Amino acid sequence: MSQREFLLYDTMTRQVKPLQPLEPGHLKFYSCGPTVYSYAHIGNFRTFLTADLICRVARALGWRVTYVSNITDVGHLTEDDVADATGEDKMQRALQSKEGEQFANVWELADYYAEAFKADWRKLNLNEPMLWPKATQHMREQIVAVEKLIETGHAYVTPSAVYFRLSSFPEYGKLSGNLNKDSLQVGVRDVVVDDSKEHPGDFALWKRDEKHLMQWFSPWGWGFPGWHIECSVMAMAYLGETIDLHAGGEDLVFPHHESEIAQSECLTGHTFANHWIHTRFLQVDGEKMSKRTGNWYTVRDLVDQQGANPLALRYALMTVPYGKTLNFTMQTLRDATTAVERYAECERLAELALKKSPSGQSATAFAEELERLYEETLDALCNDLNTSVALAKGFEGTKVILRDATHLTHEQGQVARQWLDRINDLLGILRSQYADAATGDRGSAEESAALALMDARQKAKSEKDFGLADRLRSEIEAMGFEVRDTPEGPVLRRLSGLN
Ligand SMILES: [Zn+2]
Repeated sequence: MSQREFLLYDTMTRQVKPLQPLEPGHLKFYSCGPTVYSYAHIGNFRTFLTADLICRVARALGWRVTYVSNITDVGHLTEDDVADATGEDKMQRALQSKEGEQFANVWELADYYAEAFKADWRKLNLNEPMLWPKATQHMREQIVAVEKLIETGHAYVTPSAVYFRLSSFPEYGKLSGNLNKDSLQVGVRDVVVDDSKEHPGDFALWKRDEKHLMQWFSPWGWGFPGWHIECSVMAMAYLGETIDLHAGGEDLVFPHHESEIAQSECLTGHTFANHWIHTRFLQVDGEKMSKRTGNWYTVRDLVDQQGANPLALRYALMTVPYGKTLNFTMQTLRDATTAVERYAECERLAELALKKSPSGQSATAFAEELERLYEETLDALCNDLNTSVALAKGFEGTKVILRDATHLTHEQGQVARQWLDRINDLLGILRSQYADAATGDRGSAEESAALALMDARQKAKSEKDFGLADRLRSEIEAMGFEVRDTPEGPVLRRLSGLN
């Protein structure tokens, strides 16, 4: 096992500290997943990318990783992000919207967006968690948890809900620094505020609602669980009472994670998570992403509609470390496309070198140079996931390979190939782990079809049927690829569509 420390900023202690699994060498990690009422945007995916990089670094250090990321398919209210227990269920509201018309019911809508989410996840080459638990599949555990909180005096029942009693947990606010209980007012208009609440900041564990489209029977009548209790229950069900690391977007610090801590620690009497990490929002063209101003991007907008290389999008989202605001622009994506193509060129050169006969020359100096850059890339990631330095170190490695270009020996080809594999394990920007899997990945099927056309074109050219060769080239271009003739033969390249 590597002796390196994996340093990460911890939101709770407000300092960068080593990530230390309770069981040495085994990271138990929970990352809050999406509420599946619409397509997740690239800002959401920046958060999931942070989680993905943590898993990759942990594995590079020789750790085992147990990673769980949930899917919220009930109970997340429209006002949950600012206060609690008010507003409409996001799922239910989505069904009543224009986009919701195509779904027969809320369950179908949840399934559709959950699957779309996973498809986008795979496009960005994110590692799959060990489990994607859904809130609706953990109703029994949530009811049991609420019962226990009532029994121990941490929760109380009103005619319309069960609330967590804030006054029973004096540490409430320790994560967000939101310690002034009197300021935790339900500052929301146009909603019904429950007069039976003991304190305005008390948050709902269960809401009674016989009209809700998704409802379960509980000791407190038909209704549905609060958003926060879902995550407490799912994290502890799979990872134990104390987890090593809990992640999410910066918007989840308060009230979601603060409330998860209160419930979980009152249930078990132990620390809920030993380390907390939150990813900053991203901006698009210097402004907050908003559907209204039209700078709102989903993965499918950029990849499926605009033809961006999904690995370039992944690269672009990594150009600024997770703790800083990333200003995403089309230029960021174009630059990332160039960088990803550079890696593809390195792979091609390594393959070509491997086809040569062994030269008998030593590749030690070349290997040492690349090895140092691999170590520096990993060092940068272990330094609070400094992705901008990590990408710069990787880029230096491509310079080393391209410097020798077609003169690479067979032995150097081997070294380059291994280095590229290891960099890909760490950064995930060269090859997608899903490209060959039977995931219905549009990209790989199209690419093999285009490759077949490229071979046919090559054959036509050798038979001097230039008319056919030209038609085949146009066909390849229509599929979103281009053929580049190089001294070593034709090369297929995906057109980025971003010009
Ligand atoms: Zn959560």
